[in-house]
Amino acid sequence: MNLDSPFPGDTVTTSAAARVLRGVEELRAALGPARREGRTIGLVPTMGFLHEGHVSLLRAARAECDVVVMSLFVNPTQFGPNEDLDSYPRDEERDLRLAGEAGVDFVFAPVVEELYPDGFAAAVEVTGGLTSVLDGDPARRGPGHFRGVTTVVAKLFNIVGPDVAYFGQKDAQQAAVIKRMVRDLDFPVRIEVMPTVREEDGLAMSSRNVYLEPADRARAVALSHALAAAEQQALARDSLDAGLAAARIELAAAAIEPEYLEARDAETLEPVEGLAGRPILVAVAAQVGGARLIDNVVIEPLAG
Ligand code: AMP
Repeated sequence: MNLDSPFPGDTVTTSAAARVLRGVEELRAALGPARREGRTIGLVPTMGFLHEGHVSLLRAARAECDVVVMSLFVNPTQFGPNEDLDSYPRDEERDLRLAGEAGVDFVFAPVVEELYPDGFAAAVEVTGGLTSVLDGDPARRGPGHFRGVTTVVAKLFNIVGPDVAYFGQKDAQQAAVIKRMVRDLDFPVRIEVMPTVREEDGLAMSSRNVYLEPADRARAVALSHALAAAEQQALARDSLDAGLAAARIELAAAAIEPEYLEARDAETLEPVEGLAGRPILVAVAAQVGGARLIDNVVIEPLAG
């Protein structure tokens, strides 16, 4: 909306505020007219503390859908007992402002009891290799993390009924797991996975980056450098092992010991031998100071 400015010849641009809804029934009622009129609904699930990565998903939804819903919910069931649920960064006021500026129509921000009432006992789970490797390895976050993710995302799909839902490639395993859930359980929703948005130096944006002290913030860029080296060396030498070795050197130079640094089939997350045939996900996770960081790159198959 353009408003008259006190300065002649100038305009002041303000954006409509997103409407905040706390209840499932309230949100369904608000979406009723759009649904009846056959307008398309886009959903962007978030845990808030928005950054440009989140905003890129909101913009994609705004560009493609008639109605944009952002969920804002720090989902307790996807946090392990020793993880950062209580300290997870929150700033609802700022999130609502950024959502409004990105053109979000409705922000669904329920309290925990709204989604997990007393006696809650259901779960949606993708089993097998997709959820037991990388972050799903029991020695790391474990399959329970992804069970928490798929359960809350399935609930959000049932509550919102989106035509399209937007996720970030930053959480590549999460995106692969959600795509499998949608395929296997026939959710009538299209999943869009958007590219990872990075800081100028290459660090993948994350709400958890606020945990980084300045010296650790400087070291953290090694994750993205390691992935770039992995891609470059793997392609140059037609060898995943060479790529992974180059990545390890970058991490070691920054005194980062990865929790994992692995190359896997980008869709199935099965182990891979060579580069031919299909996209390869190279994924890394590491504790850097106070933040557990993840990042990844997808190496597209060599032609021929
Ligand atoms: P979160 O609030 O961390 O649960 O993230 C909400 C959504 O934003 C997820 O689909 C994430 O994959 C996505 N996301 C998080 N960080 C980024 C990023 N740097 N670039 C693109 N998408 C992101």
